[in-house]
Amino acid sequence: MKRNQKCTRCSLHEHVKEGRRCVWGRGNLKAPLVIIGEAPGWEEHRSGKAFVGQAGKLLDHVIQKLGISWRGLYVTNVFKCRPLENTLPSSGEQEKCWVKCKPYFNEELKGRKSPILLVLGNTALKHITGLGYISRQEGREVSPGVFAGYHPAAVLRNPGLEPSLALAITKAARAAKLKVNPIGGAHYDYPIKTYG
Ligand code: URA
Repeated sequence: MKRNQKCTRCSLHEHVKEGRRCVWGRGNLKAPLVIIGEAPGWEEHRSGKAFVGQAGKLLDHVIQKLGISWRGLYVTNVFKCRPLENTLPSSGEQEKCWVKCKPYFNEELKGRKSPILLVLGNTALKHITGLGYISRQEGREVSPGVFAGYHPAAVLRNPGLEPSLALAITKAARAAKLKVNPIGGAHYDYPIKTYG
């Protein structure tokens, strides 16, 4: 299903008062590794691109430290509309929204041969794999070709989680046959102090 800036398929659109919605991913449309977050925030809503706010900057920073080329990557979200006050509805309503929004996600996957997926955070973990508790699943291949990691927003709140996120990205990137700098070396000696 093609991107539709005027999409009204699920209840999330009701909170979008102005500007564009249906925020698409960014990166290479044919990339072998697809990184999946939750939903756009304000910056993403404004720019129309996924992961361009603080969480996105942190993600870019980790990717850069790992030396992974953007040629191999695409980053997107399970939900394409910004939820009211960045808070998603109850799990039942979310499920209904995901049924309506999933065709956009499938469109983003089209044109890739067996992509490797990396789900970041509980929301993506739940809707893509049906599993719960990111803290139990992060760093693992939770089903064939699907890896899990902490959401960068969680890393912003707790910078000590950055190496875990980096390790999850490393595992997924290696499965996608991308070149990655060795982790645990000079690049991961220090935590992030501030972000913005
Ligand atoms: N959080 C997400 O999950 N996705 C974004 O694009 C931005 C913040």
